[in-house]
Amino acid sequence: MSKTHNRQIYPFSAIVGQDIMKTALILNAINPSIGGVLIKGERGTAKSTAVRSLAALLPENKVVLGCTFGCDPEKPEDFCEECRKNLINLRTAERKMTVVELPVSATEDMVVGSLDISSAIKEGEKKFEPGILAAAHRNILYVDEVNLLNDHIVDLLLDVAAMGLNIIEREGVSYTHPSSFILVGTMNPEEGDLRPQLLDRFGLCAVIEGIADADTRLEIIKRRMDFENDPKGFTAKWAAADKKIADKILAAKDLLPDVVIPDDMLRIAVQICTDAGVDGHRGDITLVKTAKTLCAYKLRTEVTEDDIKEAAKLVLAHRMRKTPFSNEQYDDKKIDESIEKAKNHNKSEQKENDSETTRKETQNEPQDNAGEQKQSSGSGSDSSETKLFKASDPFA
Ligand SMILES: [Zn+2]
Repeated sequence: MSKTHNRQIYPFSAIVGQDIMKTALILNAINPSIGGVLIKGERGTAKSTAVRSLAALLPENKVVLGCTFGCDPEKPEDFCEECRKNLINLRTAERKMTVVELPVSATEDMVVGSLDISSAIKEGEKKFEPGILAAAHRNILYVDEVNLLNDHIVDLLLDVAAMGLNIIEREGVSYTHPSSFILVGTMNPEEGDLRPQLLDRFGLCAVIEGIADADTRLEIIKRRMDFENDPKGFTAKWAAADKKIADKILAAKDLLPDVVIPDDMLRIAVQICTDAGVDGHRGDITLVKTAKTLCAYKLRTEVTEDDIKEAAKLVLAHRMRKTPFSNEQYDDKKIDESIEKAKNHNKSEQKENDSETTRKETQNEPQDNAGEQKQSSGSGSDSSETKLFKASDPFA
């Protein structure tokens, strides 16, 4: 690695191809609750470059000045103990998002931090030495070769990622601090796999392959050489393209709370997960979250079939049940079949709805237009599940 890499970061928009990986990272930047991304690929596929480039492109965060964890001044409910004590004197600063690396050799103390028990007992004062999880708060936590990490540390990491809190307990003394981060793990599948229980806890998985196309490879090398020769000039050339992505990420963040997923689309999402043999509901929920975030990134507010299809690629790659013939191969055809199945179901349900409406009209009953999820009175035979997935009222 040349020294220039430390000062100038390769622009995100200049990375050739690897769209799945780039999309997965962007979606997590918009909506960290997706739960991070596992990037699977051979060495030298720009994995770490992409992560660093994305962090460099993201706008600065507002933080509490002087706070070890970089608490968000706008979210007092997530404050650390120190910020809670100092509520009136809080001053704010801007902080660039960083990539915090977790080395494979990291010990538990290095990750969670350490608590000085003797001072807690003798002086009643908790002395906490922050670890990697403290530095990672509101940043990107990058674990290269996560499959080589000690299982215990991976468990711990995923627990904290899910809660957004790091709780350290030693001999009856405990210390808690916020730790909410975008988890990015990479692994080379040739060097062993992750336990399936852990795989499932990564929100998305981007499987990337080395690029075989000669023209594309040529373009990669050309850009790399241009960057090495003149990092500043190269970065300036791509600044507008990077800014465009950054602006879109910000716009998508604002738009996300307004994004809706109609019931017929929800059924498609559930059908895809069911047919893929995904266990539990984490897959379904992540698929819906991801489709909504993709929708926001496209600056729309209603999830479409294409959003779900695109999201499924990222959500199912590591969740599909392995069979002797398919090694987690994401199968477009299978997804299309699931979509067809869900659509047929939606259609027949629509017909049922229509005939029910006619029946109601002839009986001169009042129409229930209040919303598709509201329980309609009288018909006790419908299960609540059917109601939840009922096609949207076209007039609503
Ligand atoms: Zn704080």
